[in-house]
Amino acid sequence: MSSGIYLHIPFCKSRCSYCDFATDVWRSKDTVERYVDAICTGIRNSKFEIRNLADTIYFGGGTPSLLNSAQVEQILDSINSKFDISKDAEITMEMNPATVTPESLAGYRALGVNRASFGVQTFDDRALKLLARGHDANDARMTFKMLRDAGFDNVSFDLIAGLPGQTLDVWQRNLDEAIAMSPEHLSLYLLEIHEGTPLAEQVRSNRQPTPDPELAAEMYEVMLDRLIAAGYEQYEISNFSKPGYESRHNTKYWTLDPVFGFGVSAHSFDGRERYANERDTAKYVELIETQTSAEIIREAIDIASEYVFLGLRLEGGIDLRQYTERFGEDLIAKYRDEIERLRDSGLIDINVNRIKLTRKGKLYSNEVFAVFV
Ligand code: SF4
Repeated sequence: MSSGIYLHIPFCKSRCSYCDFATDVWRSKDTVERYVDAICTGIRNSKFEIRNLADTIYFGGGTPSLLNSAQVEQILDSINSKFDISKDAEITMEMNPATVTPESLAGYRALGVNRASFGVQTFDDRALKLLARGHDANDARMTFKMLRDAGFDNVSFDLIAGLPGQTLDVWQRNLDEAIAMSPEHLSLYLLEIHEGTPLAEQVRSNRQPTPDPELAAEMYEVMLDRLIAAGYEQYEISNFSKPGYESRHNTKYWTLDPVFGFGVSAHSFDGRERYANERDTAKYVELIETQTSAEIIREAIDIASEYVFLGLRLEGGIDLRQYTERFGEDLIAKYRDEIERLRDSGLIDINVNRIKLTRKGKLYSNEVFAVFV
């Protein structure tokens, strides 16, 4: 079982109205350099030992593409000096429209970044404004062209469905435009409104409509039909790829492979326990500078339970024999009543030695997962 490495880069040009991630608006060059030094110190002082090679590195955020290539190189050098990295590692960087140049992209490529996770979100300028994304649809089109020109041949789009005021027709046009651009991978999310965000306040005060769950369900159905007809394979509830372009890094989260996270709010899983770092950037830097570690949470998890509800996210579901081999118990016997109820409701399917979500189960997945948590 190979491992993954996650690096959290918290800075963004501005804050989107729906965002509840650990992010900071880009303040000064000095702040960023101090943060990059801190993340490198965190890597060098890490207590984690990677038994097998790490074969994925993922720069997430925030907006990692605000880092220049010297800063990315500094981080990659720290990783390479501490861990054994596979020669064919998948190295992903999240990038937002209008945050890169041909020069910065060439720099990332030269350092080995071979996959871009591109935050398109929507091609609708009205919605981009509402979300305070800080870019328009044309920026997304131009940045995608830049990515291709720079040689990125493994690009994933993030798109959000269920935006306030978004009609089914607008969603279909978004999908059509994304498909026409032909990225290798698509991650498609339904909008979630998080307490404490400006968007939550706008919805509460009726300045934006409350999302309609029935419309969101229709959007999900349309998305499945359109993408599958266009040749994409759904390999996880929210993720689609052309054959062979599944995200190797994200798959590790669903198969419970070890992933070691560095940076503010980053989480790690070593195969037995989960760890989480401090969520506030200034405190994270201070902790690393004064105590070398910024870990604030360490907890043992119920691995069997997580294996089930994470595994059910995958298109292939769970291999019941593998479950028995790994945990020494029979999954069906353990949850007999619950599984029967879910099957009778048409939410799961049991076929030979596999248990998986049905198409309806993907729509109501939270109801299924709640049984196993
Ligand atoms: S770009 Fe992403 S991480 Fe940054 S504020 Fe917007 S949603 Fe949050």
